[in-house]
Amino acid sequence: MKISKLGEFGIIQDLIAPEFKELVQQHMTGIGDDCAIIPINDKTSHIFTTDMLVENRHFLRGKISPFQLGYKSLAVNLSDIAAMGGTPRASYLSLGLPSDIEISWVEEFMKGYKSLSAEFNVPLLGGDTTSSDDTIIINVGVNGEIHHEKIKRRSEARSGDLICVTGHLGNSAAGLKMLLSDIPVSTANEDILLQHLMPRPHVPEGLWLAESKSVHAMIDLSDGIGSDLMHILKASGVAAHIALEKLPFSDALVRLAQDQNWEAQELAVSGGEDYVLLLTVSADAYENMAKSFRESFNSALYCIGSIEKAAPRVRYTYNGKEQDSSKTGFRHF
Ligand code: ADP
Ligand code: MG
Repeated sequence: MKISKLGEFGIIQDLIAPEFKELVQQHMTGIGDDCAIIPINDKTSHIFTTDMLVENRHFLRGKISPFQLGYKSLAVNLSDIAAMGGTPRASYLSLGLPSDIEISWVEEFMKGYKSLSAEFNVPLLGGDTTSSDDTIIINVGVNGEIHHEKIKRRSEARSGDLICVTGHLGNSAAGLKMLLSDIPVSTANEDILLQHLMPRPHVPEGLWLAESKSVHAMIDLSDGIGSDLMHILKASGVAAHIALEKLPFSDALVRLAQDQNWEAQELAVSGGEDYVLLLTVSADAYENMAKSFRESFNSALYCIGSIEKAAPRVRYTYNGKEQDSSKTGFRHF
C-alpha cells in the first residue's frame, strides 16, 4: 500500500508516533502538538519545533525572492513557538542546495532569515548543509522556553469556550492564487501577496495570550481552519461550531475575491499559511480580553465560533444556516 492512502496525518499517527510511546518519559509531550515539551526544572520547559520547506511543494523558486524565503522559513517555525505561548530562544537551519544555485541567492536567503532573527532576538546556532539533486530543501528547527503553567496545548478546549483568531484569514491562500494565476501586483493587493510570502509570526500575541488562564487551547493556522481546528477538537474530544459570516477578512481580500470571483470563506477554511493563532477562551472572559487585546495590539481578537460537547467535528453555519463541511484544509500526499 502506498503512503498516499494514509495521508500526512495518517503517516504520523499510524507509522511514526506509536513506535516511540514507551520512550517518551513522564511529563514530556511528544508528537501531536505544535511543539515538543521537555521540562527542565519545576518551573520551566524547553519547547522545540521543526518544519521543512521543499521546493515546488511549499514554494516555487521563480515566485518568491530568496530574501522572502529566508524570512518565511524561520517565520513558520516561530509561529509554532507562538502557538504554545512560548519565547523563542535559538534556531537551527539545514539546507539542501543544488550546486548551480548562485552565491548571491544564498546571501539574500540569509539576509531574510537574519532580518526576522534580529526582530525576535533569536540567534542561529547550528544546522547542516548538503548538496541536493534539483530542488532546494530547507529545514528549520527552533527551540524556546515557557513556564509550565502558561503552556497552551491543543488538548485543553472545553465545551462552551469561544473560538477566536488573532488576525485576518484567507490572505495567504489568496496571495498564493495571485502568484499561480499571475495576477498583476498593485497597491490594492500587494499586502495580500506579502502575507503569503512573508507571514508575520504572532509571537507577541502568543506570549500575551499565554498570560491568561482563560485561554485554554491554542494552535497556529498553517493548513486552514478546517484542518487546524480539527487538531484541537480531536486532541480535546469536543466539537466546534464556526459562524462563517464572522470570519475576519481584510478589505483588500474582500475586493480581490469579488474581482476574481473567489470565495473568501473557502480560502480561510481550506487554504493554509495564514499563521495567525486560533484559540479557545472561556466565554465569560472574552469581552474583557478582546478589549485589552485591542489596547495592546491595536487589532481585534475575532470570535468566529464556539466549542460544543459532541464528537470531534466542525459544524459550519452562514447567518444561522447549516453549510457544507467537506472543505477540510490543505493536505500533503
Ligand atoms: P505543525 O503544522 O504545527 O508544524 P504538523 O501538522 O506538521 O504540525 O505535525 C503534527 C505533529 O506531528 C507535530 O507534533 C509534529 O512534531 C509531529 N510530526 C510530524 N512529522 C513527524 C515526523 N516525521 N516524526 C516525528 N514527529 C512528526
Ligand atoms: Mg503549528
